[in-house]
Formats: sequence, C-alpha cells, structure tokens
Amino acid sequence: MSIPPRIGFIGLGTMGRAMAMNLVKAGFTVSVYNRTRRRTIEFADLGCEVAATPRALAKLCNIVITMVSDPAAMEAVMEGPEGVSSAFAGGNTLINMSTLSPDYTASLAKTCFLAGVNFLDCPVSGSKGAAEDAQLVMLAGGEKETVEKFSPVLKAMGRAVLYAGPAPAGTALKLCVNLIVAQLTTALAEAAALAQAQGIAPALIFKTLALNPSLNCGYFDLKKDNILKKEFPPAFPLKHMLKDARFMLAEAAKKKLTLPVTAAVASLMEKSYNSGYGEKDLSVVLRNLAEPLG
Ligand code: NAP
Repeated sequence: MSIPPRIGFIGLGTMGRAMAMNLVKAGFTVSVYNRTRRRTIEFADLGCEVAATPRALAKLCNIVITMVSDPAAMEAVMEGPEGVSSAFAGGNTLINMSTLSPDYTASLAKTCFLAGVNFLDCPVSGSKGAAEDAQLVMLAGGEKETVEKFSPVLKAMGRAVLYAGPAPAGTALKLCVNLIVAQLTTALAEAAALAQAQGIAPALIFKTLALNPSLNCGYFDLKKDNILKKEFPPAFPLKHMLKDARFMLAEAAKKKLTLPVTAAVASLMEKSYNSGYGEKDLSVVLRNLAEPLG
C-alpha cells in the first residue's frame, strides 16, 4: 500500500461497528458512513470524519469497506447519484465484507474491474464477540496479490486471512461455512427439545459434549446459554442466516444439487422469522420446535 490508506467504512451495525473500531484502534485513518446517523456519533467523538452520503465517503477515501445487511442494502449504498459507484476512481479499492449472494458479488467484481477499482470479496467467519476481539476469519476472494496487499487492513479486524480464490470464491466459502453453522444451531435446539420431551435436563447434553474431546466445540459453548436459558439476544440474527440459507439453496439449485437438510433448516428458520423473531439470535428456532412445520 504505497499511498497511505484512508479507509471509509460503511455499515456500523453489530459487526461493522466493532470492525471499524478495531481499524481505528490499529491506527488507520478511518471515516464512516451509516444510514442511521446516530451510530456514527461515537466515531465522530474519536475524531473520525462522518460522511453525509456513501459518495461523499468514497470521495474522501482510497479504500471503501462495506459491512451491510444484504444485496438490497449494498445496492442502496453503491448505486444512484449518492452511491459509492458514482465516486469510483481508478486505483481505489472496494472491500465488501457483508455476506451477499455469489451472483451479486460476481457482478460487483465486474463493475469494479471495468472502473479500474480493486475488489476484494471478503465475508467473515465469526460473530459479534469475534468481531469485538478482532478474532474474525477473513474469507478472501479476488486477485491473490490484492488480498496480500490489503492483508494489514484485514488483519486489524481478524485473526487470519484465508485466500479462497477469485471472486466470488470468498462468498462461496462463506455460504458453505454458514451451512454448517445453521445446521449445528438447529441440532442443538432439536436436541434440547428432545431432551426436555424425555424428561432429562438439556444441560446434560452440553456437559456430554464438553466431556467428549471429539465433540467439544467452541460454537456449542457460544450457544449454550441461549438454549438453556431460552434467551436469544442477537449475536447472529436469524434474518441474516435465513438470507444466507436462501443463497445456499439458490446456488445448489443452479448446480442441480439438492440440500435436503439445509432446506428443512431453512423452513424452520422461515417459520421462526414469520413468528416475528428475525432480529433475535438464530438459536431462537428453539421456540418454534414445539409446533409442527407448515
Ligand atoms: P446489522 O447489525 O443488521 O447491520 C446492518 C448494517 O447495514 C447497518 O449499518 C444498517 O444501517 C445497514 N443497512 C441495512 N439496510 C440498509 C440500506 N437499505 N441502506 C443503507 N444501509 C443499510 O448486521 P450485522 O449483524 O452487522 O451483519 C452485517 C453483515 O455481515 C450481514 O451480511 C451478515 O449476514 C454478515 N455477518 C453477520 C455476522 C453476525 O454474527 N452478526 C457474522 C458474520 C457475517 P442502519 O444502522 O441504518 O440500520
């Protein structure tokens, strides 16, 4: 990075807030934009410039990082007269860290290529706690040299940068990893429901898992309190995992592959979402297990 990086961060939600904070802590010059302006106040207090629009942010910076909800949110910050694309300048860099669809990511990569903008397809593995502790795993797609060049920026937010291949390989890998996360979470919820139905304490499941070295998985620990206390404060909100499950199923269908377990998990998440639980942690599916799936 010969020109000193001036980073513009878009999307200060659960993940983006913590990630942008870690860039500030690492000493980078960071400017921010967020649709809901109140979320920028703590950054302004730290001396970060707050841009009024994504375009104004892109004009200030040579690297733009996006961490927004989904393709619709990405389109809102990228397109139109006030979008990032309208201020794209050759030599600048866009790093998308949101989880989008592979198709949308491929189209972003093409737009950037045509504009002479470097593009990194870099979703993350790890949730709120990992984002806060700069322990995310970066699943990086794009040109290998571009990934290496921007690794210092990525490493300020995470523990490792894993090169996945040309874009949208980062997104493709992210969907595979989230398939496992979605199934593990649902498995915990179903096991707890079955334990309760048989009159045994669900806590015994977690004790067994912890005592068996082959099953002692950090993720189970992360979700233990949610399942046992039946409290679901958002770490990874259900609405985002449902979005990702739809991307998984759409990708599989395109390749004539069936994912029967993922399809069942998606139906359960859909039911939970329709019960009004979209903003809660995805482990909230536990609440819907007593009712038959439609
Ligand atoms: P979040 O808390 O819901 O934050 C979403 C961000 O997107 C907010 O800054 C929001 O702005 C912005 N946004 C949404 N719609 C917008 C629009 N139409 N125009 C402009 N900005 C818009 O989400 P998150 O949990 O940080 O997740 C962000 C991304 O990372 C998602 O793609 C998610 O799948 C992925 N991810 C999440 C986790 C996790 O554990 N949470 C882990 C790995 C990956 P406002 O503040 O104005 O609402």
